[in-house]
Amino acid sequence: MAATDGKKKHIVIIGGGIIGCTSAYFLSRHPSFDPQNHTITLLEATKIAGGASGKAGGLLALWAYPSSLVPLSYKLHKQLADEHGGEERWGYRALHVGQISCKGRRLEEPSKSSVKGKDGDMDGENGGGGEARVSLQKRTKEAMGKLKAAGMPADLDWVDPDCNPYYDEMGDPSTTAQVHPFQFTTAMAELAKEKGVDVRIGASVSAINYSANGDSVESVTYEDKHNGNQTKTIPATDVIISAGPWTRSIYPQAPIAALRAHSVTIKPSRPISAYALFTQIKLPAGFGQKESGKLSRALRGEEIVTPEIYARPKNEVYACGEGDHLVPLPKSTDLVEVDEKRCQEVVDYVSAISDELRDGEVTARQACYLPNNTAGTGSPLVGHAGTKGLYIAAGHTCWGIQNAPGTGLLMSEFVFDGEAKSSKAKGLDPRNVM
Ligand SMILES: Cc1cc2nc3c(=O)[nH]c(=O)nc-3n(C[C@H](O)[C@H](O)[C@H](O)COP(=O)(O)OP(=O)(O)OC[C@H]3O[C@@H](n4cnc5c(N)ncnc54)[C@H](O)[C@@H]3O)c2cc1C
Repeated sequence: MAATDGKKKHIVIIGGGIIGCTSAYFLSRHPSFDPQNHTITLLEATKIAGGASGKAGGLLALWAYPSSLVPLSYKLHKQLADEHGGEERWGYRALHVGQISCKGRRLEEPSKSSVKGKDGDMDGENGGGGEARVSLQKRTKEAMGKLKAAGMPADLDWVDPDCNPYYDEMGDPSTTAQVHPFQFTTAMAELAKEKGVDVRIGASVSAINYSANGDSVESVTYEDKHNGNQTKTIPATDVIISAGPWTRSIYPQAPIAALRAHSVTIKPSRPISAYALFTQIKLPAGFGQKESGKLSRALRGEEIVTPEIYARPKNEVYACGEGDHLVPLPKSTDLVEVDEKRCQEVVDYVSAISDELRDGEVTARQACYLPNNTAGTGSPLVGHAGTKGLYIAAGHTCWGIQNAPGTGLLMSEFVFDGEAKSSKAKGLDPRNVM
């Protein structure tokens, strides 16, 4: 009780992305949280994980950054998965990660898995099915020999050997893992609710209100979209701004910008092994890309493209392309513009190196905005913002999924203990850059 001096706390979290939801989770599990005495309210403008937190890759890596958050957060991901059945509930698993450079095949060339055959099936997975089963020719002895010579792990058999792949291991199951970000974030919100957090959806925050002399937070005002846009104000002793790329619309001083990125999910033509690949694919001149289902656009010269490909449990593959600044950040997650062409490019690029992806079914085409920290530190802003009771947890760039549990735990310590206890967080202090 000393931590809160026995005073009632009204904690308001702005934003139901992964950072807001893990903050809610850890606040609701903090030893000083007493639901009889304190309230925690999470205000989310559209839907839980409607932004990047629901559309990210979900890679976790001990070699991510910053070092003040990564080991703590990586460990917490494992603990959360063990405690709440994360393997089943949000696809937590350790996996291999590699960098792969290779040549892309033209999409006009027939897919090898469309060629039926009875031999060449090295692993027995396709055997015994007669005409109805399709033999993957890349598993012939010759194909497996090529992959081995390129340093490819034996079970990474869904990259076409004819692409001359060169594989460099970046992480193994002791240093890299993954989660399904949408499932993880929504589970965190549910688990927080179970401990008494009031999660309000359609609650778009328009103002943080301060005491008359401006030295502490007092309340938060929001528009309740589910109730005719009624304006509501709730008391607040502590406010955490975790609005990702929208943070500046609530707190303009925060050095956070937005970068749009497209991604797709694919149901591969057969289950594939657990690898996340950072690719460098050299596409040949004349590489035709699909538009409205037909090959119509063609590259003038060779081009190197770098989609990331993450195999996920339950026969899903996620792939994303590079970011763009073509469309500014819209007002809310439901207004994000998806450029079908950019999604198709990602599909075409990954199809150029894998028949399993080429012959698979595209199950989602989506876009979202990454919250970039423009202060040049490379670290997210996590901690006190300078006014009593005001905190920021935002700007997690491309490692927000990896660093969310660590951020959430630190936020619970800032609010209830007054300081970070689980990690040295000085380098994350928002006051360093505002
Ligand atoms: C293509 C892509 C791939 C990625 N892959 C990975 C990866 O593999 N591993 C990794 O660690 N990270 C990855 N990331 C990064 C990660 O997705 C982000 O860092 C993380 O999701 C940011 O979470 P957030 O909660 O800060 O922001 P968001 O997910 O954007 O959530 C912010 C929330 O705030 C809400 N909000 C905004 N304004 C208001 C308001 N006024 N009132 C109420 N609510 C509001 C929004 O509706 C939104 O739900 C990837 C990102 C992208 C774009």
